[in-house]
Amino acid sequence: MPADVDELRESVAEAARKLGRRGLVLGTAGNVSARVGDVVAVTATGLVLADATIEDVTLVGMDGVVSAGAHEPTSELGLHLGIYEASDARAVVHTHSSAAVALSLVTDELPPVHYAQLALGGTVPVVPFAPFGTGELARSVVAAIASKSAVIMAHHGSVASGHDLASALSNTELLEWLCGIYLSAASVARPRALTDAQLAATLDEVVRRAYGTAASVRRD
Ligand SMILES: [Zn+2]
Repeated sequence: MPADVDELRESVAEAARKLGRRGLVLGTAGNVSARVGDVVAVTATGLVLADATIEDVTLVGMDGVVSAGAHEPTSELGLHLGIYEASDARAVVHTHSSAAVALSLVTDELPPVHYAQLALGGTVPVVPFAPFGTGELARSVVAAIASKSAVIMAHHGSVASGHDLASALSNTELLEWLCGIYLSAASVARPRALTDAQLAATLDEVVRRAYGTAASVRRD
């Protein structure tokens, strides 16, 4: 077990408090985790995220066995562990944020409506409803998030992953902002999505600015 597990637990508690301050979670609805090695620090079940302290963060192994902490982990532990098992994510955030839930009621995916959505892997899928905490829900989220960093669960909420807690939080906020834009536009007319060519051109520009050459040139 890493020596800095208390630091890990505190960083998860701090991320939970930030979600509360930013209005992305309502009361006990939502959970946060981060992974270091084979240790996962995860918020406890029934926790009011805005009030999280280090005592509210439980340590579990990748097998789900609790190694430290007085509280039972979130009922969505299987979802968090499944994402870590299937990807190189190092943090996962789940919320019941309002725009993500609202969007899940009217569409099966969030098409790329803004170029910033590239950070989430482009189109964000909406996975079918399954009761919270079930293996069925965890499996569908893990399958859908494979090449993405965000997924929406129908009639439930959002899941975002990242290479650290800051990026998982940032992806959560980005997803909520994008869902709000989609819903706002959809109240007027069917929103247009960016084309594959437009997204590819944007990626080229990102690479050109970072490396001084375009991705399309680098691939030749
Ligand atoms: Zn939930």
